[in-house]
Amino acid sequence: MAWTSSCGAAAARAVRALGAEAVIFDGEGRGAGASGNPVALVAPRLDAGLAEPAQLFAQAFRRAVALYADLPQMIVARGALQFPVQPADPGRFAKIAASDLFEPGALAMLSPSQAGRRMGEAAPEALAFNDALVIEPHRLLAAWAPEVRDAAVDAIEAATEPGSERWRLLDAAGGVLATADAVIVAAGLASGELIAGLPLSAVRGQASWTALADPPGAAAFGGYAIPTRDGVLFGSTNDRDDTESDLRAEDHRRNLETLALGLPRLAERLADAPLEGRASIRVSTPDYLPLAGAAPGAPAGLFVLTGFGARGFTLAPLLAEHVAALALQAPSPLPAPLAAFVDPARFARRAARRGS
Ligand SMILES: Cc1cc2nc3c(=O)[nH]c(=O)nc-3n(C[C@H](O)[C@H](O)[C@H](O)COP(=O)(O)OP(=O)(O)OC[C@H]3O[C@@H](n4cnc5c(N)ncnc54)[C@H](O)[C@@H]3O)c2cc1C
Repeated sequence: MAWTSSCGAAAARAVRALGAEAVIFDGEGRGAGASGNPVALVAPRLDAGLAEPAQLFAQAFRRAVALYADLPQMIVARGALQFPVQPADPGRFAKIAASDLFEPGALAMLSPSQAGRRMGEAAPEALAFNDALVIEPHRLLAAWAPEVRDAAVDAIEAATEPGSERWRLLDAAGGVLATADAVIVAAGLASGELIAGLPLSAVRGQASWTALADPPGAAAFGGYAIPTRDGVLFGSTNDRDDTESDLRAEDHRRNLETLALGLPRLAERLADAPLEGRASIRVSTPDYLPLAGAAPGAPAGLFVLTGFGARGFTLAPLLAEHVAALALQAPSPLPAPLAAFVDPARFARRAARRGS
């Protein structure tokens, strides 16, 4: 079995957990893409109400937190606050906190004074995710993808010779990098170059960080600020259809502006701090849900795992287990109605329904 990528790390873990062999390819090395920031927040998306997409985020969040508990060395902080952004948010948060979407005790509404004490500055009423995590992605990737073959996959083709394994990974010169029973393409935006017809779009994001004594806990407020080992990371910009990953002074300025909207005192403390940063590309889909399943229209054995937007570290572990189960014909942990929401063929299915 063979792979490309770094969400590929979650796929490799899931495949090995089912007793099969996994080989990971990455053309630029482990964590070269969006997964390479110094820290990442693991928290569910809340804009999905209480229906299936919200259930998907809740189940994926639970699974990610459970698996990450085995890697305590990568956990920088626990718990995160979500501040309201829209006027309707406090009511919505209270409804979600009172629902059975999350484990009892996983969510709590905090008064402005409770939230303010947590953040070290005035704060609004906030929703606390008690189980949220701030993790170091490079440690996660090192644990789940200890060996990565440093090679770009140029094409994936179904083998035709009798007796050969089903799929071949080819390099740019047409040489065979590997053969495999199944391939999971988890190459971020480049997944669309390896599998035709995937509805992927790019959203460039730059995060900023700096050293800081006593950084506050993690909070999201449209933007977000999360502790690093020795400071704070904040951001991020969102620039649709921009595929460049250069570091921009202007984007640091925009991140400070966003920070000032949520945590003005922290923004003031950082106004003259020397900022470091990193820009990379999030992958989005037309319905803002990932692609996790069989590659549409391809012969059996070719799978795709991408489209994680801004929530890869929450969604990937569970969805990788789903795809690994499909690849190995094992039972999926994802209930069928949720699997339909991430099925890469859903767009074609919906278009066919509209046309009939
Ligand atoms: C600024 C910013 C902040 C973010 N913060 C968070 C956060 O706090 N929490 C969170 O959950 N998510 C966050 N995200 C989103 C998260 O980073 C992504 O959802 C996640 O990294 C996607 O992982 P991936 O493996 O699909 O893609 P990537 O990490 O981009 O990996 C794709 C890999 O494929 C490789 N590749 C590409 N083409 C080929 C090829 N032909 N052959 C071989 N290898 C190939 C690349 O080299 C790359 O390493 C953030 C994103 C950005 C941009």
